[in-house]
Amino acid sequence: MPSAISTDVLIVGAGVAGLWLNARLRRQGYSTVLVERASLGGEQTIKSQGIIHGGIKYALHGSLTGASEAIADMPRRWREALAGSGELNLDKVRLLSDAHYLWSPGGLLGNVTSFFASKAMRGRVDQVKGEQLPPALQDRAFKGKVYRLAELVIDVPSLLANLAELAGDSLLAGEHIEPLREADELVGLRIDGREIRAQRIVLSAGAGTEDLLKALGLSQPAMQRRPLHMVLAKGPNLKPLYAHCLGGGPKPRITVTTHPAADGQWVWYLGGDLAEADGVAREPAAQIAAAQKEVASLLPWVDQSQVRWATLRVDRAEPAQSGQVRPDNAFLAEQQRLLVGWPTKLALAPDFADHVLAKLERDGIRPAAQADLSDLPRPALGVPAWEQLLP
Ligand SMILES: Cc1cc2nc3c(=O)[nH]c(=O)nc-3n(C[C@H](O)[C@H](O)[C@H](O)COP(=O)(O)OP(=O)(O)OC[C@H]3O[C@@H](n4cnc5c(N)ncnc54)[C@H](O)[C@@H]3O)c2cc1C
Repeated sequence: MPSAISTDVLIVGAGVAGLWLNARLRRQGYSTVLVERASLGGEQTIKSQGIIHGGIKYALHGSLTGASEAIADMPRRWREALAGSGELNLDKVRLLSDAHYLWSPGGLLGNVTSFFASKAMRGRVDQVKGEQLPPALQDRAFKGKVYRLAELVIDVPSLLANLAELAGDSLLAGEHIEPLREADELVGLRIDGREIRAQRIVLSAGAGTEDLLKALGLSQPAMQRRPLHMVLAKGPNLKPLYAHCLGGGPKPRITVTTHPAADGQWVWYLGGDLAEADGVAREPAAQIAAAQKEVASLLPWVDQSQVRWATLRVDRAEPAQSGQVRPDNAFLAEQQRLLVGWPTKLALAPDFADHVLAKLERDGIRPAAQADLSDLPRPALGVPAWEQLLP
Protein backbone atom coordinates (compact mmCIF):
# COMPACT_ATOMS: atom_id res chain seq x y z
CA MET A 1 0.00 0.00 0.00
CA PRO A 2 1.54 3.37 -1.01
CA SER A 3 2.15 5.77 1.87
CA ALA A 4 -0.14 8.72 2.72
CA ILE A 5 1.11 12.26 2.03
CA SER A 6 0.18 15.63 3.52
CA THR A 7 0.97 18.71 1.50
CA ASP A 8 -0.05 22.38 1.46
CA VAL A 9 -1.37 22.46 -2.10
CA LEU A 10 -2.21 19.51 -4.32
CA ILE A 11 -2.37 20.38 -8.03
CA VAL A 12 -3.84 18.08 -10.69
CA GLY A 13 -2.65 18.62 -14.28
CA ALA A 14 0.89 19.59 -15.25
CA GLY A 15 0.42 21.80 -18.28
CA VAL A 16 1.79 25.32 -18.15
CA ALA A 17 -0.90 26.38 -15.64
CA GLY A 18 -0.09 23.66 -13.09
CA LEU A 19 3.66 23.85 -13.60
CA TRP A 20 3.85 27.64 -13.30
CA LEU A 21 1.62 27.68 -10.23
CA ASN A 22 3.62 24.86 -8.67
CA ALA A 23 6.90 26.73 -9.16
CA ARG A 24 5.47 29.97 -7.70
CA LEU A 25 4.09 28.14 -4.65
CA ARG A 26 7.36 26.32 -4.02
CA ARG A 27 9.26 29.59 -4.28
CA GLN A 28 7.00 30.99 -1.53
CA GLY A 29 7.76 28.04 0.72
CA TYR A 30 4.60 25.98 0.22
CA SER A 31 4.91 22.23 -0.09
CA THR A 32 3.14 20.96 -3.21
CA VAL A 33 2.34 17.79 -5.11
CA LEU A 34 1.65 18.16 -8.85
CA VAL A 35 -0.06 15.12 -10.36
CA GLU A 36 0.08 14.36 -14.08
CA ARG A 37 -1.57 11.38 -15.77
CA ALA A 38 0.32 11.55 -19.08
CA SER A 39 3.34 13.75 -19.89
CA LEU A 40 4.32 17.22 -18.62
CA GLY A 41 2.70 19.80 -20.89
CA GLY A 42 1.89 17.10 -23.43
CA GLU A 43 -1.67 18.26 -24.15
CA GLN A 44 -2.44 21.87 -25.13
CA THR A 45 0.78 23.42 -23.83
CA ILE A 46 3.26 21.68 -26.12
CA LYS A 47 0.83 22.09 -29.03
CA SER A 48 0.64 25.86 -28.52
CA GLN A 49 2.45 28.34 -30.73
CA GLY A 50 4.40 29.84 -27.85
CA ILE A 51 3.31 33.43 -28.46
CA ILE A 52 3.34 35.57 -25.33
CA HIS A 53 0.49 37.85 -26.32
CA GLY A 54 0.20 41.36 -24.99
CA GLY A 55 -3.34 41.75 -26.26
CA ILE A 56 -2.61 43.85 -29.34
CA LYS A 57 -4.38 41.33 -31.59
CA TYR A 58 -7.54 41.88 -29.53
CA ALA A 59 -7.13 45.62 -29.53
CA LEU A 60 -7.36 45.42 -33.31
CA HIS A 61 -11.06 44.72 -33.34
CA GLY A 62 -12.29 47.06 -30.67
CA SER A 63 -10.90 49.45 -28.14
CA LEU A 64 -8.49 48.21 -25.51
CA THR A 65 -10.90 46.63 -23.07
CA GLY A 66 -10.26 45.83 -19.42
CA ALA A 67 -9.51 42.25 -20.40
CA SER A 68 -6.91 43.24 -22.95
CA GLU A 69 -5.31 45.50 -20.35
CA ALA A 70 -4.93 42.45 -18.06
CA ILE A 71 -3.02 40.59 -20.75
CA ALA A 72 -0.96 43.66 -21.64
CA ASP A 73 1.46 43.05 -18.74
CA MET A 74 2.26 39.44 -19.68
CA PRO A 75 5.17 40.09 -22.09
CA ARG A 76 6.96 42.11 -19.38
CA ARG A 77 6.47 39.40 -16.74
CA TRP A 78 7.68 36.67 -19.07
CA ARG A 79 10.66 38.74 -20.21
CA GLU A 80 11.73 39.23 -16.58
CA ALA A 81 11.31 35.52 -15.84
CA LEU A 82 13.35 34.63 -18.94
CA ALA A 83 16.06 37.05 -17.82
CA GLY A 84 16.17 35.25 -14.43
CA SER A 85 15.02 38.35 -12.57
CA GLY A 86 11.26 37.79 -12.42
CA GLU A 87 8.80 35.86 -10.30
CA LEU A 88 10.38 32.60 -11.54
CA ASN A 89 13.86 31.87 -12.85
CA LEU A 90 13.25 30.73 -16.43
CA ASP A 91 16.68 31.58 -17.80
CA LYS A 92 16.94 28.18 -19.50
CA VAL A 93 13.98 28.92 -21.78
CA ARG A 94 14.95 29.52 -25.40
CA LEU A 95 13.55 32.74 -26.84
CA LEU A 96 12.56 32.04 -30.45
CA SER A 97 11.70 35.59 -31.35
CA ASP A 98 11.91 38.85 -29.49
CA ALA A 99 8.85 40.07 -31.41
CA HIS A 100 5.73 38.82 -33.08
CA TYR A 101 4.70 40.59 -36.29
CA LEU A 102 1.46 41.67 -37.87
CA TRP A 103 1.62 41.41 -41.59
CA SER A 104 -0.79 42.73 -44.15
CA PRO A 105 -0.38 41.18 -47.58
CA GLY A 106 -1.06 44.55 -49.26
CA GLY A 107 -4.14 46.45 -50.26
CA LEU A 108 -5.94 45.53 -47.06
CA LEU A 109 -4.67 47.99 -44.56
CA GLY A 110 -7.17 50.83 -44.56
CA ASN A 111 -8.14 51.55 -41.01
CA VAL A 112 -5.44 49.34 -39.60
CA THR A 113 -2.72 51.79 -40.60
CA SER A 114 -4.38 54.67 -38.82
CA PHE A 115 -5.09 52.41 -35.85
CA PHE A 116 -1.40 51.63 -35.50
CA ALA A 117 -0.50 55.27 -35.85
CA SER A 118 -3.01 56.09 -33.09
CA LYS A 119 -2.08 57.22 -29.60
CA ALA A 120 -3.37 53.97 -28.06
CA MET A 121 -0.76 51.97 -29.93
CA ARG A 122 2.22 54.32 -29.68
CA GLY A 123 5.28 52.50 -28.39
CA ARG A 124 3.64 49.09 -28.73
CA VAL A 125 3.87 48.63 -32.50
CA ASP A 126 6.37 49.86 -35.10
CA GLN A 127 6.34 49.41 -38.83
CA VAL A 128 9.40 47.53 -40.15
CA LYS A 129 10.93 47.48 -43.61
CA GLY A 130 13.85 46.01 -45.58
CA GLU A 131 16.37 44.15 -43.44
CA GLN A 132 14.20 44.51 -40.35
CA LEU A 133 11.55 42.31 -41.94
CA PRO A 134 11.25 38.71 -40.68
CA PRO A 135 13.66 36.54 -42.75
CA ALA A 136 10.84 34.69 -44.57
CA LEU A 137 9.42 37.99 -45.85
CA GLN A 138 12.75 39.38 -47.10
CA ASP A 139 12.11 38.86 -50.78
CA ARG A 140 11.94 41.34 -53.63
CA ALA A 141 8.49 40.03 -54.50
CA PHE A 142 7.16 40.90 -51.04
CA LYS A 143 4.52 43.60 -51.02
CA GLY A 144 2.56 44.66 -48.01
CA LYS A 145 3.19 46.14 -44.62
CA VAL A 146 4.65 44.60 -41.52
CA TYR A 147 4.33 45.84 -37.95
CA ARG A 148 6.48 44.64 -35.08
CA LEU A 149 4.47 43.87 -31.94
CA ALA A 150 6.05 44.04 -28.50
CA GLU A 151 5.23 40.34 -27.90
CA LEU A 152 7.66 37.44 -27.74
CA VAL A 153 7.66 33.84 -28.90
CA ILE A 154 9.21 31.15 -26.74
CA ASP A 155 10.33 27.57 -27.33
CA VAL A 156 7.74 25.61 -25.34
CA PRO A 157 9.77 22.37 -24.90
CA SER A 158 12.52 24.34 -23.14
CA LEU A 159 9.88 26.08 -20.99
CA LEU A 160 8.53 22.71 -19.88
CA ALA A 161 12.02 21.43 -19.07
CA ASN A 162 12.80 24.59 -17.03
CA LEU A 163 9.49 24.41 -15.13
CA ALA A 164 10.00 20.67 -14.48
CA GLU A 165 13.38 21.51 -12.95
CA LEU A 166 11.78 24.14 -10.71
CA ALA A 167 9.24 21.48 -9.64
CA GLY A 168 12.00 19.58 -7.84
CA ASP A 169 10.59 16.45 -6.21
CA SER A 170 6.94 17.59 -6.31
CA LEU A 171 5.93 15.77 -9.51
CA LEU A 172 3.83 12.61 -9.32
CA ALA A 173 2.72 10.39 -12.20
CA GLY A 174 -0.80 9.34 -11.35
CA GLU A 175 -3.87 8.34 -13.24
CA HIS A 176 -6.70 7.07 -11.11
CA ILE A 177 -8.14 9.86 -8.97
CA GLU A 178 -10.86 9.60 -6.32
CA PRO A 179 -12.09 12.13 -3.78
CA LEU A 180 -10.97 11.85 -0.17
CA ARG A 181 -13.72 13.21 2.08
CA GLU A 182 -14.09 13.72 5.80
CA ALA A 183 -17.46 14.77 7.24
CA ASP A 184 -18.62 15.52 3.72
CA GLU A 185 -15.75 17.88 3.05
CA LEU A 186 -13.15 17.24 0.39
CA VAL A 187 -9.83 17.03 2.25
CA GLY A 188 -7.65 15.53 -0.46
CA LEU A 189 -7.50 13.00 -3.26
CA ARG A 190 -6.70 9.32 -3.47
CA ILE A 191 -4.33 8.94 -6.40
CA ASP A 192 -3.63 5.40 -7.60
CA GLY A 193 -4.47 4.30 -4.08
CA ARG A 194 -2.19 6.85 -2.36
CA GLU A 195 -3.93 9.28 0.00
CA ILE A 196 -2.86 12.89 -0.44
CA ARG A 197 -4.29 15.45 1.96
CA ALA A 198 -3.95 19.15 1.31
CA GLN A 199 -5.06 22.56 2.55
CA ARG A 200 -6.10 23.41 -1.00
CA ILE A 201 -6.65 21.30 -4.14
CA VAL A 202 -6.26 22.92 -7.55
CA LEU A 203 -7.59 21.38 -10.76
CA SER A 204 -5.59 22.70 -13.73
CA ALA A 205 -6.09 19.68 -15.98
CA GLY A 206 -7.09 21.47 -19.20
CA ALA A 207 -9.65 19.41 -21.12
CA GLY A 208 -9.35 16.71 -18.42
CA THR A 209 -10.93 18.97 -15.81
CA GLU A 210 -14.46 18.17 -17.01
CA ASP A 211 -14.09 14.47 -16.13
CA LEU A 212 -12.28 15.25 -12.89
CA LEU A 213 -15.19 17.42 -11.77
CA LYS A 214 -17.57 14.57 -12.61
CA ALA A 215 -15.48 12.18 -10.55
CA LEU A 216 -15.88 14.61 -7.65
CA GLY A 217 -19.63 14.78 -8.23
CA LEU A 218 -19.52 18.38 -9.51
CA SER A 219 -20.86 19.93 -12.70
CA GLN A 220 -19.51 23.48 -12.28
CA PRO A 221 -17.58 25.35 -13.55
CA ALA A 222 -18.73 24.36 -17.04
CA MET A 223 -16.07 23.97 -19.69
CA GLN A 224 -16.03 24.37 -23.46
CA ARG A 225 -13.77 22.88 -26.07
CA ARG A 226 -12.73 24.89 -29.11
CA PRO A 227 -11.45 22.51 -31.78
CA LEU A 228 -8.52 23.47 -34.01
CA HIS A 229 -6.95 21.77 -37.02
CA MET A 230 -3.37 23.03 -37.13
CA VAL A 231 -0.92 22.48 -40.00
CA LEU A 232 2.81 21.68 -39.76
CA ALA A 233 5.32 22.16 -42.56
CA LYS A 234 8.96 21.10 -42.40
CA GLY A 235 11.63 21.69 -45.02
CA PRO A 236 15.26 22.71 -45.55
CA ASN A 237 14.30 26.01 -47.24
CA LEU A 238 11.90 27.40 -44.67
CA LYS A 239 13.04 30.54 -42.90
CA PRO A 240 11.82 31.87 -39.55
CA LEU A 241 8.52 33.70 -39.49
CA TYR A 242 6.47 34.73 -36.46
CA ALA A 243 3.44 36.63 -37.67
CA HIS A 244 -0.30 37.05 -37.85
CA CYS A 245 -1.27 37.58 -41.46
CA LEU A 246 -4.29 39.85 -41.65
CA GLY A 247 -7.27 38.83 -43.73
CA GLY A 248 -10.47 40.77 -44.27
CA GLY A 249 -12.07 39.69 -40.98
CA PRO A 250 -11.30 40.22 -37.32
CA LYS A 251 -9.21 37.04 -37.00
CA PRO A 252 -5.78 36.58 -38.55
CA ARG A 253 -5.98 34.69 -41.85
CA ILE A 254 -3.04 32.62 -40.72
CA THR A 255 -0.77 32.79 -37.69
CA VAL A 256 2.67 31.36 -38.41
CA THR A 257 5.28 30.43 -35.84
CA THR A 258 8.57 28.65 -36.55
CA HIS A 259 10.10 25.97 -34.34
CA PRO A 260 13.46 24.22 -34.31
CA ALA A 261 13.26 20.48 -34.98
CA ALA A 262 15.78 18.09 -33.45
CA ASP A 263 17.44 17.57 -36.89
CA GLY A 264 18.17 21.29 -37.24
CA GLN A 265 15.42 22.09 -39.75
CA TRP A 266 12.73 24.69 -39.18
CA VAL A 267 9.08 23.72 -38.78
CA TRP A 268 6.33 26.16 -39.65
CA TYR A 269 3.28 25.79 -37.44
CA LEU A 270 0.18 27.33 -39.00
CA GLY A 271 -2.91 28.38 -37.08
CA GLY A 272 -5.29 31.34 -37.21
CA ASP A 273 -8.46 31.25 -39.29
CA LEU A 274 -7.01 28.40 -41.38
CA ALA A 275 -7.21 26.12 -38.32
CA GLU A 276 -10.69 27.18 -37.17
CA ALA A 277 -14.22 26.35 -38.41
CA ASP A 278 -13.65 25.52 -42.12
CA GLY A 279 -10.29 24.01 -41.33
CA VAL A 280 -11.77 21.82 -38.58
CA ALA A 281 -14.36 20.51 -41.07
CA ARG A 282 -11.68 19.51 -43.62
CA GLU A 283 -10.07 16.09 -43.76
CA PRO A 284 -6.28 16.24 -43.22
CA ALA A 285 -5.44 16.00 -46.95
CA ALA A 286 -7.82 18.86 -47.79
CA GLN A 287 -6.47 20.91 -44.87
CA ILE A 288 -2.91 20.44 -46.15
CA ALA A 289 -4.02 21.45 -49.65
CA ALA A 290 -5.65 24.59 -48.19
CA ALA A 291 -2.44 25.46 -46.32
CA GLN A 292 -0.30 24.91 -49.43
CA LYS A 293 -2.59 27.25 -51.35
CA GLU A 294 -2.35 29.92 -48.63
CA VAL A 295 1.45 29.71 -48.60
CA ALA A 296 1.60 29.84 -52.42
CA SER A 297 -0.64 32.88 -52.46
CA LEU A 298 0.91 34.80 -49.54
CA LEU A 299 4.55 33.75 -49.92
CA PRO A 300 4.87 32.79 -53.62
CA TRP A 301 8.70 32.87 -53.44
CA VAL A 302 8.81 29.96 -50.97
CA ASP A 303 9.94 26.73 -52.66
CA GLN A 304 7.47 24.11 -51.44
CA SER A 305 8.99 21.22 -53.42
CA GLN A 306 10.91 19.80 -50.44
CA VAL A 307 8.39 20.67 -47.75
CA ARG A 308 6.72 17.84 -45.82
CA TRP A 309 3.29 18.46 -44.33
CA ALA A 310 1.14 17.15 -41.48
CA THR A 311 -1.93 18.26 -39.56
CA LEU A 312 -2.77 18.15 -35.89
CA ARG A 313 -6.19 18.25 -34.29
CA VAL A 314 -6.35 19.69 -30.78
CA ASP A 315 -9.05 21.25 -28.62
CA ARG A 316 -8.55 24.38 -26.60
CA ALA A 317 -10.15 23.93 -23.18
CA GLU A 318 -11.70 27.04 -21.67
CA PRO A 319 -14.47 28.04 -19.26
CA ALA A 320 -17.84 27.88 -21.03
CA GLN A 321 -18.71 31.15 -22.74
CA SER A 322 -21.85 32.19 -24.51
CA GLY A 323 -21.30 32.69 -28.24
CA GLN A 324 -17.79 31.16 -28.23
CA VAL A 325 -16.26 34.52 -27.38
CA ARG A 326 -12.58 34.10 -26.71
CA PRO A 327 -11.74 34.85 -23.09
CA ASP A 328 -8.45 36.57 -22.43
CA ASN A 329 -8.18 36.38 -18.68
CA ALA A 330 -7.18 33.44 -16.58
CA PHE A 331 -10.27 31.89 -14.99
CA LEU A 332 -10.57 30.43 -11.49
CA ALA A 333 -13.64 29.19 -9.60
CA GLU A 334 -13.71 27.89 -6.03
CA GLN A 335 -15.71 25.56 -3.86
CA GLN A 336 -14.46 25.08 -0.29
CA ARG A 337 -10.91 23.67 -0.57
CA LEU A 338 -11.20 23.13 -4.30
CA LEU A 339 -9.97 25.66 -6.87
CA VAL A 340 -10.67 24.95 -10.54
CA GLY A 341 -9.53 26.88 -13.57
CA TRP A 342 -8.07 27.38 -17.00
CA PRO A 343 -5.41 29.97 -17.92
CA THR A 344 -7.12 30.20 -21.38
CA LYS A 345 -3.69 31.08 -22.80
CA LEU A 346 -0.12 29.98 -22.27
CA ALA A 347 0.73 33.68 -21.90
CA LEU A 348 -1.70 33.98 -18.98
CA ALA A 349 -0.13 31.25 -16.79
CA PRO A 350 1.32 33.96 -14.47
CA ASP A 351 -2.18 35.46 -14.14
CA PHE A 352 -3.62 32.03 -13.29
CA ALA A 353 -1.04 31.63 -10.51
CA ASP A 354 -1.89 35.14 -9.23
CA HIS A 355 -5.55 34.14 -8.90
CA VAL A 356 -4.67 31.06 -6.82
CA LEU A 357 -2.15 32.92 -4.65
CA ALA A 358 -4.74 35.62 -3.98
CA LYS A 359 -7.16 32.98 -2.64
CA LEU A 360 -4.48 31.47 -0.37
CA GLU A 361 -3.65 34.94 0.92
CA ARG A 362 -7.30 35.77 1.51
CA ASP A 363 -7.85 32.51 3.43
CA GLY A 364 -4.67 32.84 5.47
CA ILE A 365 -3.20 29.59 4.11
CA ARG A 366 0.46 29.47 5.13
CA PRO A 367 3.19 26.90 4.40
CA ALA A 368 2.73 24.18 7.01
CA ALA A 369 3.20 20.65 5.68
CA GLN A 370 6.50 18.86 5.04
CA ALA A 371 5.68 16.14 2.57
CA ASP A 372 8.04 13.20 2.07
CA LEU A 373 8.05 12.91 -1.68
CA SER A 374 10.99 10.60 -2.22
CA ASP A 375 10.50 7.57 -4.48
CA LEU A 376 7.38 8.86 -6.24
CA PRO A 377 6.79 7.77 -9.85
CA ARG A 378 7.61 10.78 -12.10
CA PRO A 379 5.90 11.84 -15.33
CA ALA A 380 8.02 12.34 -18.46
CA LEU A 381 8.28 15.56 -20.48
CA GLY A 382 5.85 16.08 -23.38
CA VAL A 383 7.20 15.64 -26.90
CA PRO A 384 6.61 18.31 -29.61
CA ALA A 385 4.09 17.39 -32.32
CA TRP A 386 6.64 17.93 -35.11
CA GLU A 387 8.98 15.30 -33.67
CA GLN A 388 6.10 12.82 -33.63
CA LEU A 389 4.46 13.73 -36.96
CA LEU A 390 7.44 14.89 -39.07
CA PRO A 391 10.49 13.10 -37.62
C1 LIG B 1 -2.98 24.90 -31.27
C2 LIG B 1 -2.89 25.81 -30.10
C3 LIG B 1 -2.08 26.94 -30.16
C4 LIG B 1 -2.02 27.80 -29.06
N1 LIG B 1 -1.16 28.86 -29.12
C5 LIG B 1 -1.05 29.69 -28.07
C6 LIG B 1 -0.13 30.76 -28.10
O1 LIG B 1 0.61 30.96 -29.06
N2 LIG B 1 -0.07 31.57 -27.02
C7 LIG B 1 -0.85 31.38 -25.92
O2 LIG B 1 -0.75 32.17 -24.99
N3 LIG B 1 -1.70 30.34 -25.84
C8 LIG B 1 -1.82 29.48 -26.88
N4 LIG B 1 -2.66 28.41 -26.83
C9 LIG B 1 -3.42 28.17 -25.59
C10 LIG B 1 -2.55 27.44 -24.57
O3 LIG B 1 -1.89 26.37 -25.18
C11 LIG B 1 -3.40 26.92 -23.43
O4 LIG B 1 -4.24 27.93 -22.92
C12 LIG B 1 -2.52 26.42 -22.27
O5 LIG B 1 -1.46 25.61 -22.74
C13 LIG B 1 -3.38 25.64 -21.32
O6 LIG B 1 -2.56 25.14 -20.30
P1 LIG B 1 -3.13 24.15 -19.21
O7 LIG B 1 -2.02 23.88 -18.29
O8 LIG B 1 -4.40 24.68 -18.67
O9 LIG B 1 -3.61 22.87 -20.04
P2 LIG B 1 -2.82 21.64 -20.70
O10 LIG B 1 -1.55 22.07 -21.33
O11 LIG B 1 -3.81 20.95 -21.56
O12 LIG B 1 -2.43 20.75 -19.46
C14 LIG B 1 -3.35 19.99 -18.75
C15 LIG B 1 -2.63 18.79 -18.19
O13 LIG B 1 -3.51 18.09 -17.32
C16 LIG B 1 -3.31 16.70 -17.52
N5 LIG B 1 -4.49 15.98 -17.08
C17 LIG B 1 -5.72 15.95 -17.65
N6 LIG B 1 -6.55 15.18 -16.94
C18 LIG B 1 -5.85 14.69 -15.88
C19 LIG B 1 -6.15 13.83 -14.80
N7 LIG B 1 -7.36 13.30 -14.64
N8 LIG B 1 -5.18 13.55 -13.90
C20 LIG B 1 -3.94 14.07 -14.04
N9 LIG B 1 -3.58 14.90 -15.06
C21 LIG B 1 -4.54 15.21 -15.96
C22 LIG B 1 -3.07 16.57 -19.01
O14 LIG B 1 -2.41 15.35 -19.34
C23 LIG B 1 -2.22 17.81 -19.27
O15 LIG B 1 -0.83 17.54 -19.15
C24 LIG B 1 -2.76 27.53 -27.90
C25 LIG B 1 -3.54 26.39 -27.84
C26 LIG B 1 -3.62 25.54 -28.91
C27 LIG B 1 -4.45 24.30 -28.81
